[in-house]
Amino acid sequence: MRNWGIAAFTGLALLVLAGLWLIWQWQYTQAMQDAERHAQNRLALYSSSLEGALERFAYLPRLLGRQPLVQAALMDDVGIFADQVNAHLAEVAERSGAEAIFLMDAQGVTVAASNHATDDSFLGHHYAFRPYFRDAMSSGQGEFYAIGSTTGRPGYFISAAVEGGNDGRPQGVLALKVSLENLQESWRQAGEKVLLSDANGVVILSSRPDWRYHRLGELSTQAREEIHEQRQFMDHPLPALGERLRDGSLKTGNQGHAERFLNMSLDQATLGWTMHYLVPVRPLYVSARNALLAAAGSTLALLLLGLWLRERQKRQRLRDREARIIHEANERLEARVTERTRELQEAQTELVQAGKLAALGTMAAGIAHELNQPLLGIHTYAANGERLLARGRGDAAEENFQRIQALCERLGTLIRQLKLFARKGGAREPVDLMARLGFVLELLDERIKQQGVTLRISSPETTSGAIPWVAGDEVRIEQLLTNLLRNALDALRNVASPMLTITVEVSAARLVLTITDNGPGIDTTALEKLFDPFYTTKAVGDGLGLGLFISYGIVQDLGGRITAGNRQAGGAWFQVELLTLEGDTGHER
Ligand code: ADP
Repeated sequence: MRNWGIAAFTGLALLVLAGLWLIWQWQYTQAMQDAERHAQNRLALYSSSLEGALERFAYLPRLLGRQPLVQAALMDDVGIFADQVNAHLAEVAERSGAEAIFLMDAQGVTVAASNHATDDSFLGHHYAFRPYFRDAMSSGQGEFYAIGSTTGRPGYFISAAVEGGNDGRPQGVLALKVSLENLQESWRQAGEKVLLSDANGVVILSSRPDWRYHRLGELSTQAREEIHEQRQFMDHPLPALGERLRDGSLKTGNQGHAERFLNMSLDQATLGWTMHYLVPVRPLYVSARNALLAAAGSTLALLLLGLWLRERQKRQRLRDREARIIHEANERLEARVTERTRELQEAQTELVQAGKLAALGTMAAGIAHELNQPLLGIHTYAANGERLLARGRGDAAEENFQRIQALCERLGTLIRQLKLFARKGGAREPVDLMARLGFVLELLDERIKQQGVTLRISSPETTSGAIPWVAGDEVRIEQLLTNLLRNALDALRNVASPMLTITVEVSAARLVLTITDNGPGIDTTALEKLFDPFYTTKAVGDGLGLGLFISYGIVQDLGGRITAGNRQAGGAWFQVELLTLEGDTGHER
């Protein structure tokens, strides 16, 4: 895996390098082709201007050589025509723009010249060594480029034979010197590297003056001899202009200042000359290097972008995975919660069901027991009564019938309680709690007196007038009060100086009723189960254990609260909070 990575990376790096090399190559070739095109255009332009400059004079020597005055001057040994010819040549030179026009006799001695009046006049000078003289004498015309042996100024010489000598030979030569300095100056001003080399490869014109009279190649001994003989470049040593490299380019200057040029050349019609246009190589490299740098920069940017994108994608994938894991975990958790809830609900339902069944069983057992005892009694008393009546003991039988009545009443009470239990309360009417309390106390009055109980009632009625009414229904509130008071009286049965205290207070939209006795109090263990159904500590036949359960239900229905506890001083207390009419929101509870 790691090896694959390295191989891929190496491959990519090689690919990038190859791509960059191609770009470099392409840009270099492109720049070179552009430069070549430009060079060719410039060469064509400079060639035509050179040609034009030379052609203007091509006809002139021959034309002048045919003039009788010129011919006469050659035959004139005493110099009758000398002044006249000199003046004529000066005038023609002046008009044509030639630097000098001069006439030589058959020995090459100048007999007339346009510059006759100047210090460096050609008059009397011997030019038989110059090719333009020799060629004209032998073939009728000649041309030559050289540094003037008299003036030291370089120029192009063009000559024509002056016919009319003995044996059909020319009697002299008329030559014309054209200066090419202006042409060279125009090249220099254009700021380009232009050279003109002669047939031997010697630079005769150059836009850089210090390159003039340097050779581009090697000179053969014969060529050097000829040059010397013809005194073409006076005594110039003709050093090499730089170094020719293998690809044809030219390297000039020395280390540190070396410059390399592509040499574009065009052959000229004149004298085997060649025009050279030198293209500096450095800008081509600069252009290629710039393209390379731009490409490398772009590649690097692309690479970085790619890396960044990859990193971002990776991070996104990681985030997605995390989100997926969290989502799945949540889903699993939710499923478990749902499952658990369902299990709990099922368990709860089962528990409720079991609780219901248990409660039903306990209740059935209680009711059966409660019904059974009186029924057995009734049965016994009835049988006894029957027997006593048969024996004619009516008075004794009567007692039995009274007992039967009492038992029937007890059954009636039991059934009433059960009925109440079954009754669903819901009515919320204004109930005067104090009036209901008075009514219940009236019912229990006999028992209170019988037990010798001291009753104390304290209510705000005594101090601040009306006590607010509560919300509920009369029967149920009476039932509630009866249950609580009966229990208290039961607890006070065998107590010396029994005392029952009833306190009514008003607090924040509630009426708080507290019933306190000084009986034995409630077992701490019993406190927990006090309001459970069928919880009783009383003897069979005395209590069913439904009183507090029913009371609890009633208070709950009315939106109130019932609590119980033991007094410090001994005895129990029961407290009932009921909503007053202002506090009742009217909702069913
Ligand atoms: P019952 O009166 O039929 O036993 P209750 O639900 O009314 O049923 O009472 C349950 C039990 O609460 C009683 O058996 C008794 O032990 C206890 N109890 C109720 N009131 C008092 C009280 N004032 N003092 C002592 N114990 C009480």
